[in-house]
Amino acid sequence: MPPKSCDIPDLRPPYDYGHKAPARRRRREMTPNLGLMINNLHSAKMENILPDKMYPQLSKAFISRVSYYTKYLARNTYAQQHVHVGYKTIHDEPGPTQQTRMSNDIFRPEVLKTIEEEIDKYSKDLTDLSLKIHDHPEIKYEERYAHDLLTAYMESQGFEVTRHYLDLETAWKATFTHGNGGRVLGVNSEMDALPGIGHACGHNLIATVGVGISLAVRAALIKHNVSGKICLLGTPAEEGGGGKVILIERGGYKNMDVCLMAHPAAGNPRTAKLGSSQASQELSVEYQGHPAHASAAPWEGQNALDAAFIAYGSISALRQQVKPTHRIHGIVEGRDWAANVIPDYAKMTWVTRAPTAKETEALTKRVVKCLEAAALATETKATIKHSIFYYNLTQNTVLVREFTDVAAKRYGIDASSGIEGAIGASTDFLSPRYILIIPTQPNGGNHTARFTESARTKEAHDITFTITKILALVGFRVLDDELFFKEVHASFKQTMKITGDTSL
Ligand SMILES: [Zn+2]
Ligand SMILES: [Zn+2]
Repeated sequence: MPPKSCDIPDLRPPYDYGHKAPARRRRREMTPNLGLMINNLHSAKMENILPDKMYPQLSKAFISRVSYYTKYLARNTYAQQHVHVGYKTIHDEPGPTQQTRMSNDIFRPEVLKTIEEEIDKYSKDLTDLSLKIHDHPEIKYEERYAHDLLTAYMESQGFEVTRHYLDLETAWKATFTHGNGGRVLGVNSEMDALPGIGHACGHNLIATVGVGISLAVRAALIKHNVSGKICLLGTPAEEGGGGKVILIERGGYKNMDVCLMAHPAAGNPRTAKLGSSQASQELSVEYQGHPAHASAAPWEGQNALDAAFIAYGSISALRQQVKPTHRIHGIVEGRDWAANVIPDYAKMTWVTRAPTAKETEALTKRVVKCLEAAALATETKATIKHSIFYYNLTQNTVLVREFTDVAAKRYGIDASSGIEGAIGASTDFLSPRYILIIPTQPNGGNHTARFTESARTKEAHDITFTITKILALVGFRVLDDELFFKEVHASFKQTMKITGDTSL
């Protein structure tokens, strides 16, 4: 049904967005922004960047001298300053990458023009794919419709397609190569919905971004004759299934130099958020005790529910002694419970989260002690299982700077906030150590029925296409600009150092 009144006149055909003519205020609240996730998937040599720890040692005079080089940035984040400080320190003569940035211009505007034309040309197709996926919501590992739809489309576009990639029924891969050699740009397309509320996390838009980036970068590689490869992955089960974790374990990201994706979130229009996401560990404990008549012979029982309550109490006390950035949350489940029977079984599921994988592992160990102690106290048996571990996502400051720069200069989108990362959710977009991210905002409206509506609107698709254009240019630069790529790698290595991962 077309809306009776709507102050956006062009919402109707050729697409029925199912727009319900919301009030201006409500529409503004619910319009999804696209957060951005970019993942650097390669190790690198630390050559060009001054280590963070040296920053405080720089003299005031030097800082004021280099501040000239950072002032041109419309959005001066610490990370942006830091990269430029490091660059100027190590290199007496600015390299071409630096010169390009100093000129206050967007990298290769003629390529951006190609990208924009391509996305505009395909906007009807992309919208069509997005709405079809939205209207056929499929939960984790059941994304068969989306799998078939997207693989058929990529094949029709001349990409080399692998269905059921790496023995995951709903995973897929679409690749395109131009020229000889060159780097590999990875892109993620998520597809899954949530039980009962459909595409309340907007993964139909994520799928669209992935396809759009791939089409646009392909056009740019051909037109501007740059060698490189695009590897688009259809990634199942982001919502609690860890699809990308499995793909990574099976080598799905092995040959990528960088991997990009975008995720929608609720918030201010004309912004994109750049926060990091938490590492997380889900674990369960099953307490097995012995039943008994709760009144006639309670001393014969071993109370599994008591174990669960003691564990819950212990963990609640533990929360006082953890950092403000740490999270522990859990539930209790039982079966065949009755008030007059000592419960012989109870199950708890817990999730621990912290900013880094290391911290999460340490926090989880403390939680496990609480779980074990409860079994000891109640003489029940505890069976503890750790399920999928989600690594934290940390931004690659160089890719983020590039994204922020293009977003502000070309599209007036403010992507400068949230770079230090608020406490948020966790995601399966990871690689065991190197990560960068721009995830969703906390309490931002994802996972609600209203967000499902928002993920179908024309505004959502318009901003999706804009973010797609920016990401495509960032991805193209990774393939085209050797020096820029070196900086990306160096930043990645630096992040690993800061987070304490020295295994690279
Ligand atoms: Zn979600
Ligand atoms: Zn999501």
